[in-house]
Amino acid sequence: MAELRKDPILGDWVILAPERATRPFDHKQHGAAAPNLCPFCQGNEASTPNAVLTILREDSLDDWAVRVIPNRYPAVSVAGCSFVNGLSTSEFFERDAAVGYHEVIVESPSHESAMRDLSQNQLVHVLRAWRDRLAAVSADESIAHTMIFKNEGAAAGASLEHVHSQLLATSFIPPRIEAELAAGQRHFEQTRVNVWAEMLHRELAEDTRIVTATGPYILLCPFASRFPGQMCIFPQASVAGFESTSDADLQPLAELLKNALRSLDEVSPDAAFNLELHTAPPRDIRSASYLWRLAITPRLTGIAGFEVATESWINIAAPEDSANRYRRIIGSC
Ligand SMILES: [Zn+2]
Repeated sequence: MAELRKDPILGDWVILAPERATRPFDHKQHGAAAPNLCPFCQGNEASTPNAVLTILREDSLDDWAVRVIPNRYPAVSVAGCSFVNGLSTSEFFERDAAVGYHEVIVESPSHESAMRDLSQNQLVHVLRAWRDRLAAVSADESIAHTMIFKNEGAAAGASLEHVHSQLLATSFIPPRIEAELAAGQRHFEQTRVNVWAEMLHRELAEDTRIVTATGPYILLCPFASRFPGQMCIFPQASVAGFESTSDADLQPLAELLKNALRSLDEVSPDAAFNLELHTAPPRDIRSASYLWRLAITPRLTGIAGFEVATESWINIAAPEDSANRYRRIIGSC
């Protein structure tokens, strides 16, 4: 059973989930599992928990395109049914049950290992699953923060190579998101302008870190990127929550995501990466001045002592140079 512990000095919550240490690994450096033993492959559905969402292929009444299942090794447990009795807690050493949702989005019925190899149509199914599950878990009033993330490649933290992403919804707002919400609200109160919309406006005017800005989305390398080659997709319209994205707007997002991942692979072949979908936290008044975004963080360098100690970052690549490289490739897609 996972638990939350509050840092007695800073007040940040840490999730303790020792059961996750027992989860299986099949990445090549751990000895790859034969595809027919993979729990995410079509035909092996019985080896996973029952799906909470199944998206069928448009040409079939039986075959699934995307399955969403509860994580068998969750970092948090389903809200409402896991309250831990007997956790000793005090005013100084505060702890609580780690309630929330931890789900796996299986992004393909076949044993693909790279998201960039999925068809654009398949990526639309994945985006729809992300959107619909975020909306579903946000309705639970015990949830304060939701996000989708993806670890592709062992260097990015993936334990199974079959393409998948994860949804993690928690009863607390993580510190970095809390700081973003406070900054967004402060800027809005002072200027009546959404700080992310202002940033995009200025990025478009300066035009040195924009990779592409056609259609309803902007792809850029952030001004203060923390990692080499970091990319971020923003909606052109000021939309706080990804959950309100229409079906029609998922198509161009899938196309842009595929192009972004393909350009990353051309610049840094087979690079491990994290993908993070940030959306406005539910029921937080500050969410009105938020903007959803999809970040792609290549894991080309390790996190070293300075970063671990301070949560400040040393980036060895200028985002302007990264944007130039990506732009040349995407321009020829
Ligand atoms: Zn598989």
